[in-house]
Order: sequence, then C-alpha cells, then structure tokens
Amino acid sequence: MNQHIAIFPGSFDPFTIGHHSIVERALPLFNKIVVAVGMNSKKHSFLPEIDRLDAIRRLYANEPRVEVIAYSGLTVEAAEQCGARYILRGVRTVKDFEYEKTLADINRKIAGLETVLLYTLPEYGSISSSIVRELISLGRDVTDLLPPGYTFEI
Ligand code: ADP
Repeated sequence: MNQHIAIFPGSFDPFTIGHHSIVERALPLFNKIVVAVGMNSKKHSFLPEIDRLDAIRRLYANEPRVEVIAYSGLTVEAAEQCGARYILRGVRTVKDFEYEKTLADINRKIAGLETVLLYTLPEYGSISSSIVRELISLGRDVTDLLPPGYTFEI
C-alpha cells in the first residue's frame, strides 16, 4: 500500500490548540503524521526539549497515526528519515503565507518534497506559542489556548 506520511515540523514551544487543530484536520489526508519538534541549540527555548516532546507524546498517546520525534538540522533530512513525502504546515496570516512559500520552494528544490498548507480556523488565527509564553510569564491562565489534555510543568 502507498503510505502517505506527512511531517509536521515546528518549535511547538509550547504546542497550542492551533497546532493541534492542524494535526486533527490533516489526519484524514494522510496515513500518518509525524510531529517533528525542532531543536535549535542557538535558540533558547521556553520548555526544555524533553518536556516539549513528552507533552505532545502524551497528547497523542491514543492516536497511533501520530508519531512524535525530535530533530535538529534540516527538516528535509528528518522527513527522509521518517519516510515522509509531504511537509505539513499551517497558515494564519499573509506574513505566515510568505514565509511558508519560501520554505516550501526551498524544500521542493532541495529534496523534491511538497508542502501541504492548511489555513487556520478563524478562532485560532491569533494564537501563537509566543503569545502563550507571554501570558504564562504574566501569570495568566492559558488553558483555552492549549489542546484539551495537553499539560506540562514550568
Ligand atoms: P516554527 O518556529 O517552525 O514556525 P511553530 O511551532 O511556531 O514553528 O509553528 C509550526 C507550524 O504551525 C507553522 O507552520 C505555523 O505557521 C503553524 N501554526 C502556528 N500556530 C498556528 C495556529 N494558531 N493555527 C494554524 N497554524 C499555526
């Protein structure tokens, strides 16, 4: 059988309800989705690498079609390693669109990988990991901005 595997790369620092919605809406399109948590040694992260990974793994513990991996370096190399022929990404704004178009063009050019973009749901259009981090640092409750059942320690 021809397996359609998509890799969903991101920082996911933390994983928001917007990210979760992209995974849920893409599940009918693919046999498997690999959520790939990017590790950037130069960028200071809010949640430690292992916590980011574990929290997303717990969220999808009962969804065998979602796998969660960590990677550093090129997304196309992580895609090759997990057999993904598609890159899944989400778009909220024109700014996102322009950024995603550049990435998609590069990834197609260097590895022949196609990118599948899903528009955000209108209700999640203003949600980002950075907004969630900001609210947490100001002591606000962010439960509504995170997927149900997704928990982490800070
Ligand atoms: P990156 O640092 O690679 O942009 P992010 O974790 O910020 O990683 O985002 C991963 C992907 O999820 C990106 O394609 C981004 O546009 C998308 N995304 C982020 N927030 C949302 C949202 N609220 N709705 C839809 N897509 C989103």
